[in-house]
Amino acid sequence: MNVHVIGIGLIGGSMVLDIKEIHPEATIYGIDTNEKHVQKAMALGVIEKEGNFDDLGTADFVIVSVPVDVALLVLPKVLDAIGDQTIVFEVGSTKMPICEIVANHPKRRNFIATHPIAGTEFSGPSAAIKGLFQGKTNIICEVEKTAFKLQEKALDLFRNMGMRIRYMDPKSHDKHIAYVSHLSHISSFMLGKTVMNKEKDEQDIFDMAGSGFESTVRLAKSSPAMWTPIFKQNKKQVVKTLEEYIANLTNFKDLLVSDDYDAIYEEMANTNRIKEILNGITTIKK
Ligand code: NAP
Repeated sequence: MNVHVIGIGLIGGSMVLDIKEIHPEATIYGIDTNEKHVQKAMALGVIEKEGNFDDLGTADFVIVSVPVDVALLVLPKVLDAIGDQTIVFEVGSTKMPICEIVANHPKRRNFIATHPIAGTEFSGPSAAIKGLFQGKTNIICEVEKTAFKLQEKALDLFRNMGMRIRYMDPKSHDKHIAYVSHLSHISSFMLGKTVMNKEKDEQDIFDMAGSGFESTVRLAKSSPAMWTPIFKQNKKQVVKTLEEYIANLTNFKDLLVSDDYDAIYEEMANTNRIKEILNGITTIKK
């Protein structure tokens, strides 16, 4: 089995680590514009060989795991190069632009649009870890546009990685993910900015940062190269979620200014329900 990963970072690298565990006979090839990442990935055993586009004709699986703006350029070239039995999947955090770019490609049936809801704030091949996708959800869009046999091959692989499959149309994906992922990142980045701007002496932040601050600001360590194109591609939905979020922040501030502590208590008590919702999601995943 030949597996090619294009973009040997956190997601692509973690995927091939799991694939190698599931299919020890597989040969893992890596393609990355960053030569240091190729060398690092080989040294870490994330990939076995450096690949190139001329080899894709004999690939069983091709994983495209590059920033979402780059994916729009790379994906058509990958589909041009693959064989009839190759299945290509892309793992980007937006799905509408990706599904549009491949819509009329003659090899559309060799492609499956996915978004594994798993990750960390780290990037590059050193961030790749085994088991990252265990118990996580993989959102699949437009599955009916993928050839049935190839679909089954990809879905089997995702299930063997421990992922739960959820089907969604690309528009709903981009709308829902704007709330639970894209807004969370902006909120974390801007919380980090607010505190850093105020606390010019960074040692004070370091000394006083409790686990609450640290966990809330964790996503602010994420790569701007990855997140800028995500916000650009999902701008309409992200702006809408920001407007709702800003309205909630303004409301909270107004309650505080007017000393309405009963209302503040109520706001927080109502939001405590997030505990049950997230527990429910964890239980479903198990
Ligand atoms: P990453 O760790 O930064 O890996 C991306 C890799 O692609 C880097 O090595 C990058 O090199 C390389 N690259 C950039 N342009 C390329 C090109 N034209 N051809 C080949 N390689 C190229 O990023 P990641 O976190 O794995 O994210 C990859 C994809 O997964 C993104 O589409 C993202 O939206 C999606 N995703 C991410 C998460 C998450 O939590 N991180 C979760 C789910 C899905 P340079 O670093 O030198 O640019």
